[in-house]
Amino acid sequence: MRVWSIANQKGGVGKTTSVVTLGGLLGQRGHRVLLVDLDPHGSLSSYFKLDPDSLEHSMYQLFFNNNCKNRDYIGQVIRPTSLRNVHLLPAATSLATLERQVSGQEGMGLVLSRSLAQVWDEYDYALLDTPPILGVLMVNALAACQQLVVPTQTEHLALKGLERMVHTLKMVMRSQRRELPYLIVPTLFDRRTLASVTTLKEMRRIYRDKLSPEPIPVDTRLRDASQLGLFPHQLEDESRGVRAYRHLLSLLDNEIEKANHG
Ligand code: ADP
Ligand code: MG
Repeated sequence: MRVWSIANQKGGVGKTTSVVTLGGLLGQRGHRVLLVDLDPHGSLSSYFKLDPDSLEHSMYQLFFNNNCKNRDYIGQVIRPTSLRNVHLLPAATSLATLERQVSGQEGMGLVLSRSLAQVWDEYDYALLDTPPILGVLMVNALAACQQLVVPTQTEHLALKGLERMVHTLKMVMRSQRRELPYLIVPTLFDRRTLASVTTLKEMRRIYRDKLSPEPIPVDTRLRDASQLGLFPHQLEDESRGVRAYRHLLSLLDNEIEKANHG
């Protein structure tokens, strides 16, 4: 299984959209996909018409009932979705209280990796949608994934945030004694605005090969799809945004190949 975290401490940069679109595309290609919602807001779960306020089984129970090594229980938490080949491990809004309740407890950083280990042979990909705070959920995501994808809005302020974020991520990775490959993906790119164009240039200068060569453009059809509860990859004529996500997918696959083969 390939496990990718989609992370940025800023909200509204396209994390959930990336997870939904990449997941849909992978499922369409026949891969078995597990999407994991680690954001207490539960936007990914809501996308699949689940109510993160009233779920009986969610990521929350995996933390609390200490049953992340119980394959049958995990099987109950994971549910099929309306998308072909795509399953979901949903979030609950109660995850917001997790920090206070479990921080400092032994093993809490490994709940997700242990859970995924139980279903390792059942999926080809797991995509983790992460919360915009660096807490125990984010630490779980970093410990569980092999690759990090950082969607970043192409605007000047986002660039400042990105520097801080990359710095903190490196610190967390050091403390976990891991070195994860990461790829920064410029999002909401609008080539008609100077702000977008100059920020992209600056990002390329600073992050070079850590930056995905093709930004995800602002695409009203992507936004409309989310409003209407449609899945971007199912739009009738493929939108520019979905095309850009297709490219991103091959890039991510190649990165992992490279990492695995030296
Ligand atoms: P995050 O998960 O980082 O908070 P979302 O994926 O929820 O961000 O995106 C925030 C908003 O921006 C949503 O309304 C979404 O539909 C919209 N959006 C995301 N990507 C694009 C895009 N490429 N073009 C236009 N709108 C987008
Ligand atoms: Mg989100």
